[in-house]
Amino acid sequence: MPPKQALLKLASLTGLSALARETTAPQLRILCYHGLWLTPGAPFGNCLFMTPGQFEARMDRLHRSGQPVLPLGEAIERLAAGNLPRASVAITIDDGWASTHSHMLPILERYRMPATLYATTWYSGRDLPVINVAVDYLLAASCRTDIPRAATIRSIEALPVEDRLDALRSLGRALGVDEAWLDHRQFHLLRPDELADVQRRGLDVQLHTHRHIDVAATLGRLAEEVEENRAFIARATGAPPATHFCYPSGTWHPAAPAVLAASGVRSATVVTEGLNAPASDPYALRRFVDGPSVSQDGFDAYLDGTLHYLSALRDFAGGLRVEAPRRAAAASSMLLCAI
Ligand SMILES: [Zn+2]
Repeated sequence: MPPKQALLKLASLTGLSALARETTAPQLRILCYHGLWLTPGAPFGNCLFMTPGQFEARMDRLHRSGQPVLPLGEAIERLAAGNLPRASVAITIDDGWASTHSHMLPILERYRMPATLYATTWYSGRDLPVINVAVDYLLAASCRTDIPRAATIRSIEALPVEDRLDALRSLGRALGVDEAWLDHRQFHLLRPDELADVQRRGLDVQLHTHRHIDVAATLGRLAEEVEENRAFIARATGAPPATHFCYPSGTWHPAAPAVLAASGVRSATVVTEGLNAPASDPYALRRFVDGPSVSQDGFDAYLDGTLHYLSALRDFAGGLRVEAPRRAAAASSMLLCAI
């Protein structure tokens, strides 16, 4: 049994799980998802893409837990007001991959789960896969390690936008990778009409910057990026201006909350694992990054609060590692400066 599974089992046997459920009940749980893996063959991207079956199993488990699932905005307001229902959960989905519309939304609808989509929008107006993620996939699928990743991405991104898809196709052919990933729009983001449809069907579309910027490295662009992102979403969905934000790839800067507040943003989430207490900073709300490498026991431990104590134990002991920081780092490397 892996060490982490053994710890979770021990927590259950010693009554820590029951204690955690009770003591963490006033705190808000926020789940973080990305897209689903639709292309035949082994899933790629670790934290980014779980299978539709895995996502459905998670929603079924959440439903069976009996824990209240609230829209993010309501959950944040009630957390601050001190009247959050016990052990409440909010669901967030990052980026706006095409599979959010085609496969995640029907599952959420089936379980009547509210969710927030943090949409990055530069790619939404273009029939083009996210270049760096597509290149990573092509290199991984071909098992080629002799091709310089960064230079390949730079060379494609230097082309006129209308030529980039052909360049990706040429790369895929040269590497012997078939185009099933393109047929499934695996690395496309939602088109404006799809953003409108998800909003109409109850998914709350919120902010993730227009170009998925690195907030830590390019803080000076943050306000403009939020405005461009917000205007794109409003044009696509017709919804009121978005006011909730997610730091792209979890990149954070101590001055970012002031910039966001001045831009009319009321909350912001990170990819650091944790629960959120009533006094938590609304511009640094913690989440649990769920993905294919997360066990069902790990997911349950976040929901019931056990993971909160195990993380504290890890920090105390030093060296005892849990999965979330690695997953967050992987997410950063996947999408950072993608656009
Ligand atoms: Zn993102």
